[in-house]
Amino acid sequence: MTLPRDYRGQTCALSRAMEVVGERWTLLILRDAFYGVRRFGEFAAHLAVPRAVLADRLAGLVAAGVLDRRPEPGTGRREAYVLTEKGLGLWPAVRALTDWGEQHAPAPGGPRRLFLHHADGARVGPDGHCSGCGTPVPPGDLLVAPGPGLGADAEGGADPGTEADPGTVVDPGTDVDPGTDVDPVTAALARPHRLLTPLLAPLPAAPVRRPSKGTP
Ligand SMILES: [Zn+2]
Repeated sequence: MTLPRDYRGQTCALSRAMEVVGERWTLLILRDAFYGVRRFGEFAAHLAVPRAVLADRLAGLVAAGVLDRRPEPGTGRREAYVLTEKGLGLWPAVRALTDWGEQHAPAPGGPRRLFLHHADGARVGPDGHCSGCGTPVPPGDLLVAPGPGLGADAEGGADPGTEADPGTVVDPGTDVDPGTDVDPVTAALARPHRLLTPLLAPLPAAPVRRPSKGTP
């Protein structure tokens, strides 16, 4: 018996939230959006999520008003996915689940990511307050920085526990070099980065390199 796709019969607010964020990959997509990932190919490369699944999740988040799909500044045509005010409200949930994972399913060597206050570089705890100045820090004033658990393997789509469903095949895609171990998002996150600012520079206006398909 397959699981129904929704929480029919449930009336509590948690079930309504889960309708929006409860599907596999959705919270990881949102986490990356907070980190400043904006383009389809970047999500696909970093998460190694099947592209059809990614398209479905992004469309659902746009339909729910959590992400806005807009032309990328400077290009006028490529689409960027940006968190709305409604989406920004999910940060405490993303942060809390991340901290829960660190506490109860810790990575060897410690946290892979640290959250720092942009103003003073001090750690920001799970309660969202800066350990240095004591103020509550909104996500846009956070830096995500590599933690001690981010070893030589560098975080990527091959995160333990986030592998694709058995039997799924990750489309090599149009802008992912299958011969490269570290995708641009993972490489960018090897340095401290301010949340909600674009992680990668806008692409030049030239078309994205695509594998040739048959006739020219
Ligand atoms: Zn501070």
